[in-house]
Amino acid sequence: MTHQVMHELVQKYRSTFIGYWKDFHKHPEPSHKEVRTAAKVAEILKNLGMEVKEGVGGTGVVGLLRGTQTGPTIALRADMDALQIKEETGCDFASMNEGVMHACGHDSHTAMLLGAAHVLSELKAHIRGNIKFIFQPAEEDSPVGGAPAMIKDGVLEDPKVEAIFGIHVWPTLETGVMGIKEGVMSAASDRLKMSILGKSTHAATPEFGVDAVVITSQVISALQTIISRNVSPLDSAVITFGKIEGGSRYNIVADRVDLDGTVRTFNPDTRKLVAEKISQIAEGVSSSMGGDCIVDYKWGYPPTMNDPSVTQIAKETILETLGENGLYEISMPNPGGEDFAFFSEKVPAAFAWLGCRPKGIPPENFPKLHNNKFLPDEEALPIGVTYLCQVALAALGALSK
Ligand SMILES: [Zn+2]
Ligand SMILES: [Zn+2]
Repeated sequence: MTHQVMHELVQKYRSTFIGYWKDFHKHPEPSHKEVRTAAKVAEILKNLGMEVKEGVGGTGVVGLLRGTQTGPTIALRADMDALQIKEETGCDFASMNEGVMHACGHDSHTAMLLGAAHVLSELKAHIRGNIKFIFQPAEEDSPVGGAPAMIKDGVLEDPKVEAIFGIHVWPTLETGVMGIKEGVMSAASDRLKMSILGKSTHAATPEFGVDAVVITSQVISALQTIISRNVSPLDSAVITFGKIEGGSRYNIVADRVDLDGTVRTFNPDTRKLVAEKISQIAEGVSSSMGGDCIVDYKWGYPPTMNDPSVTQIAKETILETLGENGLYEISMPNPGGEDFAFFSEKVPAAFAWLGCRPKGIPPENFPKLHNNKFLPDEEALPIGVTYLCQVALAALGALSK
């Protein structure tokens, strides 16, 4: 697609998708409750003549656009949910839903993907294969998320998705810049709960009991050696217990301590290793001291992994769309979690950051994601729409070869 044709099409629909954005911003809905948003999305996709599935994995919506020529299927994904935050942006399309706000920009993601749906629907004759438009619920609902239920409902099948792309508005990057990297884009974020069990007795006669507090102190120290002795110095991981609770009285040996924490890793192998070692060490140390340990490791969002060849397509698209200064090569992955990760486990994926900080405002003065004053630059939206359209066409071209 020539730049000129694409530019004109995106401009043609600009007021339409900006309108969608403002409407979604005014009517934010929290995770799993994206009912109004999903209904709007479905209506728009149906009006474009797409095959539409509703209620996919809860409130998820999927539109399928078939090109005039047969070929592979790729997917574009947006998230639809808002956060329980009271909006303080002061904009004229601020939230009308008290205490709920699109503070992570998912309203803009949904609007941009709908913009791409309008543009690509006009380009059917140029589409060799199919494009799936995935609108997912509950991105913010860690550790469960909205993607797993959609995957379970078959969103990646029939027709089978061969590559998937997603974007997130990124306030540290200026409008006109997109960030991407091969490999890990965001951390895995898991929940770790443990209970250490001993046997209570009088504090003055510890020999008749098993002290869960003393065992806990050994377990916590031993677990930190996983980071220093089992994880490569070139990789990294974090084990943090933010809360521990135990014992009943100052003069009774504690028979139970409960620990609650989180584990962050940046690589699937390290993630598995750290989880295994936590159980081995916690159980081993506890039993060697005469106690017991129950480990409850809750797998949260995996790391978002950008596939090398699909990421290459995304990078080339960014370069073509925004020029050399428009590509920001990310060096450090985001330590926060991202639900797109579940798609990236199943299908070659590329997730990119879309700069949305207005030119001239320094990063320290621009509100971050999840801040009650966060509002992306409107000028970022046509860039996102253009990218989504171009990357879809480029991926279908590359996969058809
Ligand atoms: Zn968020
Ligand atoms: Zn988000």
